[in-house]
Amino acid sequence: MPAGTTGAVAFADRHVGPSADDVARMLAVVGQPSLEALVDAAVPAAIRTDGPLDLPAAGSETGVTARLRALADRNTVRRSMIGLGYSGTVTPPVIRRNVLEDPSWYTAYTPYQPEISQGRLEALLNFQTVVAELTGLALANASMLDEATAAAEAMTLLRRSSKAPADAAFVVDADVLPQTLAVVRTRAEAIGLPVVVHDTRQGLPEGDLFGLLLQYPGASGLVRDDAALVRAAHDRGALVAVAADLLALTLLRPPGEIGVDVALGTSQRFGVPLGGGGPHAGYLAVRDGLQRTLPGRLVGVSKDADGNPAYRLALQTREQHIRREKATSNICTAQVLLAVIASMYAVHHGPDGLRRIASAVADRASSLAGAVRDRGLEVVHEDVFDTVLVRVPGRADEVVAAAREAGYWLRRVDGDVVGVACDETTTPADVDRVAGCFPEAGAAVDGAPVGLPAALARTSAFLTHPVFALHRSETSMLRYLKRLSDADYALDRGMIPLGSCTMKLNATAEMEPISWPAFADVHPFAPAEDQAGTRALVAELEAQLAEVTGYDAVSLQPNAGSQGELAGLLAIRAYHRSRGDEARDICLIPTSAHGTNAASAVMAGLRVVTVATTATGDVDLDDLDAKVAQHGERLAAVMVTYPSTHGVFEAGITRLCETVHAAGGQVYVDGANLNALVGIAKPGEFGADVSHLNLHKTFCIPHGGGGPGVGPVAARAHLAPFLPSAEVAGGPDAGRTTAGGTGPDGVGPVSGAPFGSAGILPISWTYLALMGPDGLLRATQAALLTANYVAARLRDHFPVLYTGEGGLVAHECVLDLRPLTASTGVTVEDVAKRLVDFGFHAPTMSFPVAGTLMVEPTESEDLAELDRFCDAMVAIRAEVAEVEDGRWSVEDSPLRGAPHTAAMLVGEWDRAYDRARAVYPAGVTPQRKYWPPVRRIDGAYGDRNLVCSCPPVEELAGL
Ligand SMILES: *Cc1c(COP(=O)(O)O)cnc(C)c1O
Repeated sequence: MPAGTTGAVAFADRHVGPSADDVARMLAVVGQPSLEALVDAAVPAAIRTDGPLDLPAAGSETGVTARLRALADRNTVRRSMIGLGYSGTVTPPVIRRNVLEDPSWYTAYTPYQPEISQGRLEALLNFQTVVAELTGLALANASMLDEATAAAEAMTLLRRSSKAPADAAFVVDADVLPQTLAVVRTRAEAIGLPVVVHDTRQGLPEGDLFGLLLQYPGASGLVRDDAALVRAAHDRGALVAVAADLLALTLLRPPGEIGVDVALGTSQRFGVPLGGGGPHAGYLAVRDGLQRTLPGRLVGVSKDADGNPAYRLALQTREQHIRREKATSNICTAQVLLAVIASMYAVHHGPDGLRRIASAVADRASSLAGAVRDRGLEVVHEDVFDTVLVRVPGRADEVVAAAREAGYWLRRVDGDVVGVACDETTTPADVDRVAGCFPEAGAAVDGAPVGLPAALARTSAFLTHPVFALHRSETSMLRYLKRLSDADYALDRGMIPLGSCTMKLNATAEMEPISWPAFADVHPFAPAEDQAGTRALVAELEAQLAEVTGYDAVSLQPNAGSQGELAGLLAIRAYHRSRGDEARDICLIPTSAHGTNAASAVMAGLRVVTVATTATGDVDLDDLDAKVAQHGERLAAVMVTYPSTHGVFEAGITRLCETVHAAGGQVYVDGANLNALVGIAKPGEFGADVSHLNLHKTFCIPHGGGGPGVGPVAARAHLAPFLPSAEVAGGPDAGRTTAGGTGPDGVGPVSGAPFGSAGILPISWTYLALMGPDGLLRATQAALLTANYVAARLRDHFPVLYTGEGGLVAHECVLDLRPLTASTGVTVEDVAKRLVDFGFHAPTMSFPVAGTLMVEPTESEDLAELDRFCDAMVAIRAEVAEVEDGRWSVEDSPLRGAPHTAAMLVGEWDRAYDRARAVYPAGVTPQRKYWPPVRRIDGAYGDRNLVCSCPPVEELAGL
């Protein structure tokens, strides 16, 4: 045992599933003598990197935790009263421990298989209900990445829905949050929408406008009556979006009651920690008539094969919002875990509790205003909810510094004005202490009472559904959370072999630090000195990701892969422009690309031209040559995924890069599949210019049931000045990434917070520290081995669609069911649902090729679990053979009957196969049985009868 080690098994030995014996057995099946030989055979020599990764050696969990603790200790957490869309909040402990810190919630996948996702679908339906009812609008989605990106989505939604002339402007009120305006500007500039900032207290500006964005209450704290303004905008043919504070809406007349078209915002203050800026669930809600324009995921109610109510994602065809030229948005990973927390906060407190919390916040603001007036100071606005601006001519810096000394972060609005935002955590003692930081300026100032304007009081009821009344006791709340998570299948039950999504281990040691107050309770605009630990962590993580990818600069700001793509493409466009290449606006994308690729290109103002793929699944290099020749001077970029979405290391990648560079284009490599490359190849070395990575895939941030994510953008030096600027106008000391232009070349921010989802970066930092260069290489080797093992074991039962050199796949394999579907009628869906009976989450269905299943086992699954999966697939193939042999029709087969519920077993049983066959197929034992709560769900029925908020209980019963 090396000196200084504790004797415990190294972390990498527990992160990587297969043991040394397993590896030997699997190599034999794959037909390779060693892991090194497997990598040599599978990966083209031309792209291999030399030597090991230059990263610190692996540490133990105790050692790494201590190092992280030292970083955390460099943060100085004070009580935040900065506001600006980020508020202190209390995460109810029952929710923190049983949702945020519970793997049955955080390790789940996006609910594409609704029969095994009923728990989180119900929680998300609650979220939609909370948002729709608080905003007074018809329908809300679940969810948006943050408030600022929700505003940008609202802008494009209004543009699509308005009949205003093509050159009409988007008018943003001067009291909108500064970081929201900054993101809106980034997104508007890319697609050529004019943005006009205007103080709408004087009415609307001259000229055509298609949309208007208001903030309610405003960044200045002001609560004003916008009813006349909304009418005026409508009269001029514009639509209106309002960024609204959900807690304030428990007391204030909601935007829906004055005819607003769209509401948006964040649900952060519903129990989600500040986290240094994220992750938090943004929201977007629309009035009746705009339902089908709403981007993002939408949960709806439908029915299952027995006619029982069941939840599923509604209007899935609308996911064309992420499809090619028609794309209206690139949202894929959202903020499911955070939306669940926010919804549970509403369930926990109920409408009365929320109103009480909001009233207490408003009281604190009023008493603070009274206290500063007593000191002879003037407040800027009297009609406010939680934020008070105080005039201290020439002395703002002094007040902010005194408050910091006393343990509070205040907002320096300018040299003469200080902002103080109250929240759920503000006590009367806090109010006294903060007031004491203001100067004594003379005799008390008089004025109207400061607080909520009576004329704008909310009169309508909200959250009247029983779910918001039933769980007042903690016992009941705990059982509700447990009941929902018990309905779902997550990584804590078994393998989730999702191609393209890398559902690997999210180790407990990686997860624990996100709850540390030093990371959880930091406001994104807190002074840089108070965030020294976070800054150091960001810098280390950026440097390590640069080393892993071979790029020169990394920005951690994008809060999903889709946003990293957008940032990378914006950088390419800005680079071309900086060289006078204004005309370069064509983005070549292979037909097999992930939906977000083309959508991001459209959002970056590029035109998408597709490149064919050959019969073997590779990018068709002849077609690439032709398209490059055809578009010549207009070529901006090619965007390819590597290894490809077909799960293959294409040997042609270096030639592809050369061809595009020779024509003056840039190469974007989608790095979502980096799990196949870490330690063996670097995109920045083999010819690419820019990539995004998905930390929620390769670097162990859990999928959260569909978010959060982090999608860093990494680039070579010539693009570095164009990476997203972290400069935001709002904070007392806005942060900036180590990479990234803040100067005239910068493209502006792509997320509201300087470091995006800063609160979950400790997860990936910890993973890298625990694995070290050797562990990371082993993980990649094991990921290639498990995929090739599954391919080898299943090849004789289902054809493996694509392979690369030597008949090997990369880290995933595509199983072709189309021949079987043609001969028997058994579909990929039948196989996916039958896998539920066997206790599995289905692989990715029909991506990148319709009629196929894509399997990515990852390095974290051990041989026993891999064999359990392969055995299940072989048994299912045998059931298909029974259809082929005419034993029963596909309609009468256990495949079509799947998944089978416990409820089916009681009463009549008139099926061709028996009950045991239905629920205990080969290899499934009662001791280890997952029971799906509903039968196969009829998605089309729900789309025809759209119900996207909690339905009345009677309706549920009678569905
Ligand atoms: C997951 C994925 C994306 C999108 O990432 P999100 O974080 O979901 O936005 C893009 N490309 C590929 C190949 C992916 O697998």
